[in-house]
Amino acid sequence: MQVKEWIKNAIKSEENEKYLENGRDFINEDALHKALHENISPSDQEIRRIIAKAKSIKALNIDETAKLLHVNNQNLWNEIFTAALEIKRKVYDNRIVFFAPLYCSNLCVNNCAYCGFRSENKEEKRRILTIPEVKTETRHVLNNGHKRMIMVYGEHPQSDVNYMIETIKAVYSVEEKTPKSGRPTSIRRVNVNAAPLSIGDFKKLKECGIGTYQVFQETYHKETYRKVHPQNTLKGDYNWRLYSLHRAQEAGIDDVAIGALFGLYDWRFEVLGLVAHAANLEKHFGVGPHTVSVPRLTPAIGSQLSTQSKYIVNDNDFKKLVAVLRLALPYPGLIITAREQPAIKREVIKLGCTQTDASTKIGIGAYQECVDNDTKKSEQFTIGDPRSLDDIIKEVAEMGMISSFCTAGYRCGRTGEKIMGMLKHCVEGKFCKLNAVLTYREYLDDYASPETKAIGEKLIEKEIGEIKSQHYFMKNNGKIFNDFMRNYEQIKGGARDIYI
Ligand code: SAM
Ligand code: SF4
Repeated sequence: MQVKEWIKNAIKSEENEKYLENGRDFINEDALHKALHENISPSDQEIRRIIAKAKSIKALNIDETAKLLHVNNQNLWNEIFTAALEIKRKVYDNRIVFFAPLYCSNLCVNNCAYCGFRSENKEEKRRILTIPEVKTETRHVLNNGHKRMIMVYGEHPQSDVNYMIETIKAVYSVEEKTPKSGRPTSIRRVNVNAAPLSIGDFKKLKECGIGTYQVFQETYHKETYRKVHPQNTLKGDYNWRLYSLHRAQEAGIDDVAIGALFGLYDWRFEVLGLVAHAANLEKHFGVGPHTVSVPRLTPAIGSQLSTQSKYIVNDNDFKKLVAVLRLALPYPGLIITAREQPAIKREVIKLGCTQTDASTKIGIGAYQECVDNDTKKSEQFTIGDPRSLDDIIKEVAEMGMISSFCTAGYRCGRTGEKIMGMLKHCVEGKFCKLNAVLTYREYLDDYASPETKAIGEKLIEKEIGEIKSQHYFMKNNGKIFNDFMRNYEQIKGGARDIYI
């Protein structure tokens, strides 16, 4: 099919209509600006009341969030930062989930001003992975120790839903032997970050067994959206993107993920946009987003905007926005990526982030090739944290946090409304703690360097002690604890991929 013909048929605006209210979408810019304007000088007392509400694991509304965004006193910010970590601990315990991105193609029909993949960027070396190349990339990712992958695609007829399905199946089909113990392993959960699809295409993706579908709105501010996404491109359609995750839900994909690209417009407005987005998903489907991402604009080849935007967010404001999101939306996972430098990554992990990538390569085919200048030219932007998975696991262990490769929730049907219900009652976090320990055991035996293993052994011992001391696990004559320990001993003895 010709590219022009494909573009003409891609958007099916009628699929969004039922979600509009009086013909309008849910981002009421006047209301968001008003909330920012009217809540500019909250009292300390009001802020403390809002912090207390968030600590009782209740989502905040737009006005409450706007008040937090305007706090102007370092002591109160410190209270917000402390509360952010407390909330994370209550809902998600002390774990960090790891994943690896796999960039499959940088062909793109769009022309987003901030992105190295944009069609008018002549410096970008275009490439789409073949199925054997996808399998080779997967082997490399597995050899780094990963079990979760997020697949990333430009928007193009050559990387349409059929290509996505073929490549996802290819990833799931790869079986590799672990370097230390030689036991078979494979990717256990594939998530997708790609352009919005129609309901029909989302249904096809659902059938091939994806975990989460992730689409970032980039900016919720409509005028900025129009400026950075030319109107004669598919991505120029704000509402097609805004309702993509509603359509995904309708197609049966019940884990959906939102995000904003911080640096395109005022960060405070974007935070309110994310909160409004989460609330609208919850209103229609009884469940908000599975995760929220906070990518920050980083330099991209051939994009002036990526280095010169007047809205670039500094580290101090970045910490604030992460903490406010943790308070406003206590249930979704919060993702921080390798876009960030190690030092700030460390900081925001302490403010409630729950997931991150590691050993990250974002050039097309970059895991299998040593990154030369040509591979660099196929990158979408530059990354700030190229460290290995083992290095980062060691670092988070030193911070007292356990690394998790758990994919059990999705494979046991704990997704969508069900998992959110469990998170709201702080129950899912408990299962995740057990599965984090089980998958950490696998990592330590199959991949860890001697230094990481040494610190990991101490941490795992402490975790098991904590599990044993919790009433929840010891009810009914310690049934959950005993089941967990049986699995743990089996894994120590060589069994793999068993979970609770
Ligand atoms: N084509 C798909 C889409 O537009 O949704 C996939 C998107 S892209 C491969 C993944 C995300 O990277 C984008 O949604 C955007 O938020 C982010 N991104 C693009 N350019 C960036 C830059 N210069 N710095 C940081 N993140 C960037
Ligand atoms: Fe294409 Fe996505 Fe990059 Fe825009 S952000 S140019 S749609 S790959």
